[in-house]
Amino acid sequence: MAKRVGVASIIQETNTFAANRTTMHDFEIQGIWLGADADRKSHGMNIEVAGSLAQLRTHGFDAIPLMRAWAMSGGIFLDNELAKMKALLKEELLTAGKLDGLILNLHGALINESDDHTDAHITEFAREIVGPDVPIVVTHDLHGNPSRRIVAASDALIGFRTYPHIDQGDTGRRAADLMQQLLTNNRRLGTALKKLNMIIPAETMGTSDQPLLQIRELADSLIDNEILDISLFPVQPWIDVAEVGFGITVVHSGNFARANECAEIIRKALWKIHKEFQATLYSVEDAISHAIKGYKGKMQLISQSSDAPSGGSTGDDSRVIASLVNYGSEIVSACTVVDAPAVDKAYSKSIGEEVSVSLGFTIDPRWGKPVAVIAKLLNKGETPVVLTGPAMTGQVVSIGRWVLLESKNKVQILVSESATTTFDPAGYEVAGIDLDKCTIVHVRSPLLFKSGFAGRYGETFSLNLDGPTTPDVKKLNFYKVPRPMIGLDDFAGDLAEVSSD
Ligand SMILES: [Zn+2]
Repeated sequence: MAKRVGVASIIQETNTFAANRTTMHDFEIQGIWLGADADRKSHGMNIEVAGSLAQLRTHGFDAIPLMRAWAMSGGIFLDNELAKMKALLKEELLTAGKLDGLILNLHGALINESDDHTDAHITEFAREIVGPDVPIVVTHDLHGNPSRRIVAASDALIGFRTYPHIDQGDTGRRAADLMQQLLTNNRRLGTALKKLNMIIPAETMGTSDQPLLQIRELADSLIDNEILDISLFPVQPWIDVAEVGFGITVVHSGNFARANECAEIIRKALWKIHKEFQATLYSVEDAISHAIKGYKGKMQLISQSSDAPSGGSTGDDSRVIASLVNYGSEIVSACTVVDAPAVDKAYSKSIGEEVSVSLGFTIDPRWGKPVAVIAKLLNKGETPVVLTGPAMTGQVVSIGRWVLLESKNKVQILVSESATTTFDPAGYEVAGIDLDKCTIVHVRSPLLFKSGFAGRYGETFSLNLDGPTTPDVKKLNFYKVPRPMIGLDDFAGDLAEVSSD
């Protein structure tokens, strides 16, 4: 009889500086798929659960889909809402019956009110249900914050190898490969974890660019028959928790000392180049003028990473829109904002009609004031976005109702009830915008957009703005993170001072 391996996926990235709170509704609007639905609905998508299920079958296992719950990044998950999620997982695990193995596809930076390591909590919870002898393999996003607890509760922990992330499915497959090592080859696996107190802007975490590329290559050079996987977790910088930092996990087949040594080699190499993780940032005005001057027929991208829904922010900061619509002359461009009251007001108008709205800061007013815009209604609808780029390909993202407005100076503004995905052009194209005709396109994403927009853009300009996902992390009020912290503190210390095992 084929061995039975369950796969469950609960994914959200939490931002502890975000104004909103995460509830089950945030997962429900994106669809919580239980049992066979998790298999059927994820089929063909570039997401972890689909990769794990397919690869388990390739290895001859009986792959049991348990659940897939995904929400756009957001604020802290409410405790009573997490309890509902755990109840779903428990029910699916009990319904599935006796399992020989379990794969958990988790983000790694999910945080609820009473626990800074919700992914560890979920893994411990699953461990209690399946018992101590059933191997558990966990996958994380590269922005996850792996903890000592999750390493203790699982048999192996791995993460994405890419940023921009394009290997969600592959990561799921790698987890299934490790499960085969555990169940077919009867190897006992473990994970060594080391951290460096370092918080860096997401802009500098590209895995095919320096400085991180050399660290990835070093990690790959250490993999052998005993060291099965090395994952790097530069960690998203917008979580204020005590156990945070650049994480290195090394999955080994019994030689813990060697795994620990590999993690230390990588930590030392990171320490040597820690000053190189600096982002180049522009003011909104400079970015717009550089973008216009440098335009050579391909859209110029202005990245407002300080308000990135993919990093947990609300997407309602309208400062870039204000600068574009008040630019003084025509500027063919596209931008987005979350503003439910404005959608409500404009939705009742007919296409072509003029509408006067106030845009922005309806959810998180800490960073600025709304901008008044008189615009023409170009389009409206409630069609969801279907991701077409290489990240999470095929995934459907609900953005609620939306309207497409155009200012007198040709700024097209996609206003939606929930955040659209500007890391993927589909987040705009759903509204019928022809991006390739734009001089400037506004993205709310630090780096992920570079995969979605590959080949279509000229230059990129990251903005130096404050907000819950600001690239200037010194602007955020951290209380819990250990100090000194590279990225937050200027200090003349040695590696021992910023190492946390
Ligand atoms: Zn990520």
